[in-house]
Amino acid sequence: MKPPPLKNNCFAMPPGVDWKPVDAALDRLRDGLSVVVGSGDVPLAQAGGRVLGADAVALRSNPPYANSAVDGFGFSFAHLRDSEIVELPLCAGRAAAGAPFTGAVPAGCAIRILTGAALPEGVDTVVLEEDTTQEGERIAFRRGLKKGANSRKAGEDFSAGDVILAKGRKLGSPDLALAAAAGLSVLPVCDRLRVGVLSTGEEIVPVGAPVAGHQIFDANRPMLLDMIRQWGFEPVDLGHVGDDRGLLRRTLNSAAPRVDAILTSGGASAGDEDHVSAILAAEGNLQTWRIAVKPGRPLALALWQGVPVFGLPGNPVAAFVCTLVFGYPAFCRMSGQDWPERRGFDVPAGFTKSKKAGRREFLRARINRDGQAEAFKSEGSGRISGLSWATGLVELPDTEAEISVGDPVRFLPYSGFGLSG
Ligand code: AMP
Ligand code: MG
Repeated sequence: MKPPPLKNNCFAMPPGVDWKPVDAALDRLRDGLSVVVGSGDVPLAQAGGRVLGADAVALRSNPPYANSAVDGFGFSFAHLRDSEIVELPLCAGRAAAGAPFTGAVPAGCAIRILTGAALPEGVDTVVLEEDTTQEGERIAFRRGLKKGANSRKAGEDFSAGDVILAKGRKLGSPDLALAAAAGLSVLPVCDRLRVGVLSTGEEIVPVGAPVAGHQIFDANRPMLLDMIRQWGFEPVDLGHVGDDRGLLRRTLNSAAPRVDAILTSGGASAGDEDHVSAILAAEGNLQTWRIAVKPGRPLALALWQGVPVFGLPGNPVAAFVCTLVFGYPAFCRMSGQDWPERRGFDVPAGFTKSKKAGRREFLRARINRDGQAEAFKSEGSGRISGLSWATGLVELPDTEAEISVGDPVRFLPYSGFGLSG
């Protein structure tokens, strides 16, 4: 008997296997996935966090009419006399927001005007109240104002007919202000993507249930369901199944009509008890992608009754990272959103590392007081505490890298993946 040499690195890449680089895997996902949700109108107040299903076109300009940006006095600029100190008589009346002055202001006269009031006929410029002195029915101010000062032009923000929000945008609170200003009381939004989450593994027990010494609590399901909720999708809890192919089949069958995508965790490799990959291979058009990524093992992609299934590794750290890196953009695409590029910034490393060529690596990291990215003390992918300790990931290139303290590294905050923490 001649056993092989020990592989201390349990993620070592077996020779001869075709490992797909992260970028190639993402390109395949981007090109292969399409929008799977329908759309319909919802009232503006319910549109926050939803994805626009069609371009939103302004019904009204903003501002809809020229108006004053300050409290002061309005007049026609062309009729000012060119002197160091300008004096103008005030005409009777005043222009206020919601109470316009309906007459015309005679040339060479000024009118009291308040913020937001429509500029009356004969007014194109406003002087700030604090820059004037007033005696009886006359005001005086110093030269130096420009034509149009302290006023807002009609449509200077946007005009009726403009596309103010593009299809595919996830609507934030400011977008609701924009749509309201444009007169849009309903918005066309995509239906929420329904994502089912299923945990697998004989050793897994839902937290709160009695647990035997050889069992562990299901850490993935609460994490994945919450990520889906935070992304504005509809989480569908598909529970947990042990390593039982019949039950797995029944669970997938009953889930498929109720969801748009399924995330499973565990059992996705090619071991004896890897029932997820086995059943997907036999009955679900499985494509296993050996992605050159750490942490992560093969990502199983399959279709179950037409519903995309993402078979995640069981390790919570790998499940989390794979969901951020592959699941998030894929779900964005399927939900009608634009494909999100990974968002991050370069910071000095607060750690040293010698990285081999071959795989993209994502380290659990956070920014320390000196603005450096500090990496979690262990790279072990079973260490859930590091996920919680971290506020983001450091992304290391596929190539070999020798990182010293102070070298620039790419930090991807969790918030860049649409998560709050
Ligand atoms: P597997 O991908 O099934 O080989 O699982 C890899 C590792 O992740 C094993 O140590 C499992 O016990 C663990 N694991 C699988 N599913 C979960 C889960 N839902 N929560 C916590 N750990 C899990
Ligand atoms: Mg397992």
